[in-house]
Amino acid sequence: FDEVQAYDPELAEAMKKEFGRQEDHIELIASENFVSKAVMAAMGSPLTNKYAEGYPGKRYYGGCEFVDIAEDLAIERAKELFGCTYANVQPHSGAQANMAVYFALVKPGETVMGMSLADGGHLTHGSPVNMSGTYHNIVSYGVDEKGFIDYDEVRKIAMENKPKLIIAGASAYPRKIDFKKFREIADEVGAFLMVDMAHIAGLVAAGLHESPIPYAHVTTTTTHKTLRGPRGGMILSSEEFATEYKLNKAIFPGIQGGPLMHVIAAKAVCFKEALDPSFKEYAKNIVDNAKALADGLMKRGFNLVSNGTDNHLMLVDLQNMGVTGKETEKLLDAAKITCNKNAIPNDPASPFITSGIRLGTAAVTTRGMQPEDMDQIAEAISLLVKDVDTNKEKALAIVKELTDKYPLYNLNV
Ligand code: PLP
Repeated sequence: FDEVQAYDPELAEAMKKEFGRQEDHIELIASENFVSKAVMAAMGSPLTNKYAEGYPGKRYYGGCEFVDIAEDLAIERAKELFGCTYANVQPHSGAQANMAVYFALVKPGETVMGMSLADGGHLTHGSPVNMSGTYHNIVSYGVDEKGFIDYDEVRKIAMENKPKLIIAGASAYPRKIDFKKFREIADEVGAFLMVDMAHIAGLVAAGLHESPIPYAHVTTTTTHKTLRGPRGGMILSSEEFATEYKLNKAIFPGIQGGPLMHVIAAKAVCFKEALDPSFKEYAKNIVDNAKALADGLMKRGFNLVSNGTDNHLMLVDLQNMGVTGKETEKLLDAAKITCNKNAIPNDPASPFITSGIRLGTAAVTTRGMQPEDMDQIAEAISLLVKDVDTNKEKALAIVKELTDKYPLYNLNV
């Protein structure tokens, strides 16, 4: 940072403010987390200088002998962590991991079935504004009136539409996903099953959510959510499937050029951390904290989609509170609590307004917060939503107490 400060004070100012924001806000965005200093150091290293198109041992550039070691470490650790025989650690993002799988397995115009964005799926699962929804014929499934995936309905839609590829996985689904059932449905209709475990990868790594690996033909993930690594993506599969369907080629030269070697190095660090027994404890704490936050909110009169959570996130249905998701995001921000507005199933409001917010506990757990702290956060949220003018100072005091008690990086800038 000192170098940035000396050379580019204008940028340094913005960075400093962002460091401060992360330190003094409570981060409840379900897809965010705080990486270790070792992960950050790998990302901010001279490995960013290296071009390494291709794969370890088979590059299109000279001088790759050391970045080969870094990429091999990331690959081997990813395979060990998730118990699979193939890993591609080069996707620049989760979206690119998904795009590569589409590129490998389905042709333009073929049918793909995923969870609708409105019910918790991701944009890349077939939204019309995403490439997936433009190049493929998309059929979607959602959740039932209680907020759960209805597997009979999934089966029915699959039988009617005979997709070539079925996607399981979500960005805003608070419950466990039954990958075995998805595979049975895929087999029945002759489809490939891709599981996008981006949100729950850390829980899967720790054994706190069933692993998709035994069931999915291909699993994609991001590395920066509950898994707590650098921003990036990854594709997992079996060696046989990856060879038959040329998954490596789908990433490079299919949809990407040179890999980000500094990010791949940081992925290697992240996987080493996730293989450490302490990671299980962290993942268990995430789930315990999510339950505590959910309970704290429900006892204060908030409705949660599906009445609770099995994982790291929850969707708060604000309709009985007389506020929209957009308003609530702003209300909470006024007291330094960060979250995102989120559509709830059958949301009467537009996606820019929404009737819900999505909350996740990965980032606060990384800071060290405990279930009793979650009750305090629920109290602060309740105070703000019910009467921000009267209660803002009280909520700010709760946030300050918690962020002081659990310092993040202690950066002296
Ligand atoms: N898949 C799922 C389920 C996600 O939730 C996300 C991100 O929110 C992505 C893919 C895309 O990841 P990225 O933002 O790295 O492209």
